[in-house]
Amino acid sequence: MTTMNPAVEKVLNNLEGKTMKLLIGSKWVEAQSGRSFETRNPATGELLCRVAEGDAADVDAAVAAARQTFEGPWRNFKPNQRQNLLLKLADLVEANYDELCVLDTLDMGVPMRRTLGNRHRVVSTIRYYASQAMSIHGETIENSLDGEFFTCALKEPVGVVGAIIPWNSPLYQTLKKIAVCVAAGCTMVLKPAEEAPLTPLRLAELCLEAGFPPGVLNVVPGFGSTAGARLAAHPDVDKVAFTGSHFTGQKIIQASAGNVKRLSVELGGKSPNIIFADADLEKAVPGAAMAVFNNAGQICCAGTRMYVERSIYDEFVARVAEFGKRMRVGNGLDPETEMGPLVSANQLERVTGYLKRGQEEGATAASGGSRLTDGEYAKGFFVAPTVFTNVTDNMTIAREEIFGPVISAIVFDEIDDVVKRANDTIFGLGSGIWTTDVSKAHKIARRIRAGTVWVNAYNVLDPAVPFGGYKMSGYGREGGIHHVDEFLQTKALILNTD
Ligand code: NAP
Ligand code: MG
Repeated sequence: MTTMNPAVEKVLNNLEGKTMKLLIGSKWVEAQSGRSFETRNPATGELLCRVAEGDAADVDAAVAAARQTFEGPWRNFKPNQRQNLLLKLADLVEANYDELCVLDTLDMGVPMRRTLGNRHRVVSTIRYYASQAMSIHGETIENSLDGEFFTCALKEPVGVVGAIIPWNSPLYQTLKKIAVCVAAGCTMVLKPAEEAPLTPLRLAELCLEAGFPPGVLNVVPGFGSTAGARLAAHPDVDKVAFTGSHFTGQKIIQASAGNVKRLSVELGGKSPNIIFADADLEKAVPGAAMAVFNNAGQICCAGTRMYVERSIYDEFVARVAEFGKRMRVGNGLDPETEMGPLVSANQLERVTGYLKRGQEEGATAASGGSRLTDGEYAKGFFVAPTVFTNVTDNMTIAREEIFGPVISAIVFDEIDDVVKRANDTIFGLGSGIWTTDVSKAHKIARRIRAGTVWVNAYNVLDPAVPFGGYKMSGYGREGGIHHVDEFLQTKALILNTD
C-alpha cells in the first residue's frame, strides 16, 4: 500500500508505546484508578497506543476545574477575546490538518481521501463560530409596568457543559462542540468515544497552544457506562450536549433529571432518500450511493431508505449497485481508498447481523451483502457496499438504524404514498429528494418530518445552517445561531429607575 502522506509515519511513531493522558485544568494527568485501555486501527487490528481510562473520580475533578474557570477568569473574557482564541485554533487546525486526518483514519478508519477534501469546511466551521462569539446579543423590552422601569433580556453562557460524542467523525464532532462552547462563553468537559479518542486529545493540545485558559476545555476519555454516565448525571454540570444513538440519548435524558440539566441530544436516523423518475440520474446515482457509502455508512443522516419511483426502479437500483461494486474498499490511508472499514468488531457484528436478517426477511443483495475477508481484508472490519433490493417498509433493515454501508431500495408509485411512508419512522434526521421539478420538491420538502431536507444533494453541511432532529432523532440544533443559543441562558433584568 502506498501512503498518501508523510505525516503518517510521524504520527505512528508518536503514538507507539504511549499511554495518552487526560486533560484536567492545565495538566495532562493519568486516570486516578491508574487504568488505561487500548485503541486500535480498525483497518489492520494493530494497536495504536493506550489511553488513560477516566472514570467518575476523574470526571469529578474535570468538572471542578471547569467550574473554577467558569466562575473565575473566564467570566471576564470579552467576546473579542473568545473570538481570537477560536481564530487561533482555526489557524492551528489548518496548519496541522493532515495530521488530524491521519489520526481520524488510524483510529476509526475513515478514508483520508474524504477527510483531506474537507479541509476548508472544517476550518471555516471554526471561523464561523469565532464570528458568532461577537454576535451574541439580548434585547431591550418596552414594558407596561407602573412607574419607570428599564427592562431587558440578557444572554449569558449556560455554564459548565458536559460534551459526550460518538466515534464516527471525531475531528468534526469535537471541533463543533469546542467552538460553540467558546463562542458562548461556557467551559467544557469532553468525553470522547472509547473507539476514537486520539483526535480529540490532539485537538485539546492545539487548544492549549491557541491560548485557551486552563479549565476551559477538559478531556476525559473513558467508557460510557462510567465516565459518560457520571458526566450525564453530575450535579454541577449545567448542560449536556450529547451526540450518539437514541438508546444512549434516552439514558442521558433520564440522567439529566437529577439536577434538571439543559440538554441537547443529537441522535440517530433512518433517513429516506426519494428518487423520482424525472431526476437527473447522472447525479442521482452517485448521490444516492454516497448518501450511504460515505464513511462506510457510519453517518447519522445516511439516506438508507432509498425510495425509487417504479418506472426507473430496476435501472436505478442496478446502477447504484454497480456504483457499490466499483468502490475501492480498503485501508483509509491509501489515497485510492473510497470506503474504509467499520470502526470495530462490535460494529462489524452489528452490521453483518443486519445483512443476514435482511436476506432472511426476503431482501436480495444486488451488490455486497457480506463481510470482506480476502487477503488484507481479513485483518480489519470490512463490509462490502451493499444494495438490498425487494425491500418492503416493514423489514428490519428498513426500520432500524444499521450504521453501515447498507442501502434498502424500496419501490413507490405516487407522491402522497411515498411521503407517508418516508415519515413512517421513529426518526427524523435527514432526508433527500431527487427531481428536476423544483415545485414538486418544494411541496414535498414541507411535508417531510425531518430536521434537514436535501434536494438534488445529500450530506452537504454548512456551519451557518441548523442541523438536528425531529422525533427520536433528538432535539436541539447544531449549526447557525440556533446552536449558540442552545449554550446560552436568558436572564430578565427589571430595573426600577424611579
Ligand atoms: P453511542 O453508543 O450512543 O455512544 C455515544 C457516546 O455516548 C460515546 O462517547 C459513549 O461512550 C457514550 N455513552 C455510552 N453509554 C453512555 C451512558 N450510559 N451515559 C453517558 N454516555 C454514554 O453512539 P455511537 O455508537 O458512539 O455513535 C453512533 C450513533 O451516533 C448513531 O446512532 C448515530 O446516528 C449517532 N450520531 C448522531 C449524530 C447527530 O448529529 N444527530 C451525529 C453522529 C452520530 P463509549 O462509546 O466510550 O462507551
Ligand atoms: Mg480506534
